[in-house]
Amino acid sequence: MNVSHIEHIGIAVVSLETAIPYYESLLGTKCYAIEEADQKVKTAFFKVGETKIELLESTDPEGPIGKFIDKKGPGVHHLAFAVPDVNFALEQAKASGIELIDQVARDGAEGLRIGFLHPKSTLGVLTEICGEK
Ligand code: ZN
Repeated sequence: MNVSHIEHIGIAVVSLETAIPYYESLLGTKCYAIEEADQKVKTAFFKVGETKIELLESTDPEGPIGKFIDKKGPGVHHLAFAVPDVNFALEQAKASGIELIDQVARDGAEGLRIGFLHPKSTLGVLTEICGEK
């Protein structure tokens, strides 16, 4: 599906207020954006080379991140691969037998288009595809 790099790693955290200073100190770089996204999530971004770290704090215990933390605790939540064309990549994934969470691309954080693959068909790793279109 023409993946160019790991766009970001999504990490579920209990609180951005404590996670941001930890990552700023660990990575030696400042958080450059905080966004309230849909899916009852607040995100904070760091750049590490071409890849970003996306911290995800739930704004609602019933949202997907709230449920994830409830079940598994905080930690790595998903991997996001950068592709030139998200819809094309989703079609390719589906054609190869991968179950899709998003049938077509939708708007994600930072103005990118995104779509998720189901962890049932990706060896347990929640996988996000993202790109400019
Ligand atoms: Zn993500």
